[in-house]
Amino acid sequence: MSDHRKASNRDPACLFCKIVAGEIPGDVVHETETTLAFRDIQPQAPTHVLVIPKAHHTDAVAATRADAALMADVVLAAGEVARIEGIADSGYRLVANTGRDAQQSVGHLHLHVLGGRSLQWPPG
Ligand code: 5GP
Repeated sequence: MSDHRKASNRDPACLFCKIVAGEIPGDVVHETETTLAFRDIQPQAPTHVLVIPKAHHTDAVAATRADAALMADVVLAAGEVARIEGIADSGYRLVANTGRDAQQSVGHLHLHVLGGRSLQWPPG
């Protein structure tokens, strides 16, 4: 496995790297060799799960540049979370807040999987 895909590719100061390492607890709903999915601590919908690569990448573009197959792993894991949560058919939203104006608060790529209710558009 390339270094870009490994959990050992980590930032010791990163909150989500600490969840991957088990240093901070996470309510895990799905895990693969390269991804982890856990419930958001402040859920904004009946289903609100964060899907991350175990390796540290700041955002979706950085992760895709480093390893496009890893980004595909994250998206497929999000689809699996939707299936597990029972929202694959009713529909769900994948959100990747990127940078300041999008209010990205954790600099480790995460896809929000949001669903379980009718979601409004546009977002705020
Ligand atoms: P962002 O704002 O970067 O798009 O999303 C970060 C998300 O991480 C937020 O929805 C926030 O509620 C969630 N979050 C922050 N700290 C923790 C934590 O310690 N555990 C979990 N499970 N989620 C967290």
